[in-house]
Order: sequence, then structure tokens, then C-alpha cells
Amino acid sequence: MFRIGQGYDVHRLVEGRQLWLCGVKLEHEMGLLGHSDADVAIHALCDAILGALALGDIGKHFPDSDPRYKGIDSKKLLAEVCKLMRDEGYEMGNCDITICAEQPKLRPHIDTMRQALAEVINTPVDNISVKATTTERLGFTGRMEGISAYALTLLFKL
Ligand code: MG
Repeated sequence: MFRIGQGYDVHRLVEGRQLWLCGVKLEHEMGLLGHSDADVAIHALCDAILGALALGDIGKHFPDSDPRYKGIDSKKLLAEVCKLMRDEGYEMGNCDITICAEQPKLRPHIDTMRQALAEVINTPVDNISVKATTTERLGFTGRMEGISAYALTLLFKL
């Protein structure tokens, strides 16, 4: 039994915030704004997993009106989503994430990000793909007003 899911998320880039992507803190003069640590890539991945399970979205499970999630490390949200996945009898086959950001350059951090996600999900790192693209200075990501992320995942039942 296989199930596929996709997720998408956007967060605004602002000064005075840390930049977290795929559970890794990056050195940058700006960070993403949000109720949690605003890790846009993990949020897209959580939505992909929840989507595959038809269990709603991240906002339903972790409402931003709930003070428990204020400033929370998104790796904890991903761990909770993976617990839901296993409660439903599924394992992750693979996932593929694309981060759209003009800056900073993400390529040097890709393998660290993959490793960080693999540890939280508890899956081999070769099941995790993280890709980065600019949008050629077009749109809100190109103007560095925000960062967006897309995620796809395939889950399977043993
Ligand atoms: Mg989000």
C-alpha cells in the first residue's frame, strides 16, 4: 500500500530572526518570521506527510494560536507527524524537498540538512532529498521578501 503527499509553505524574511531550514540554523542577516521557528522546509514536509495520510494540515495539528508551539523547534513538529505516520502503520519511502530562496546560498548546507531530517524521521539519509533553487530574482522569493518550500513524499505500509 502506497500513499503520496505534497506540501507547500511560505514564510516572510525579516531582520532580527534566526534562519532555520530543514532543522539546521544558517548564518544569515535575516530569518523567517513565524509562530514557531518558521522552518518553512520542515513545515512543507509535515504537510506532505499529513497529506499522504489525509490527516489535514500542520495548522490543524499545531495551531499558531496555541502558546505551546510559540518558538518551537520545528523538528519536534516533524517528530510528532512521523509518530502519527507510524501510528497509521506507514513508513517513509522517500521525500523530495525544494527550497526557493535567493539568499543565502544553500548548496554547502544540503547534506547537513538531509542528515538532520533523516535523524528526526529515523530513516536512511538516502531517502531524503533536499534541493535549492533561486527564482531568478523574480517574485517574492526573488525580492528576498520570503522563502518558500515544496515537499513531496511517498509513504508505504509494511
Ligand atoms: Mg509554516
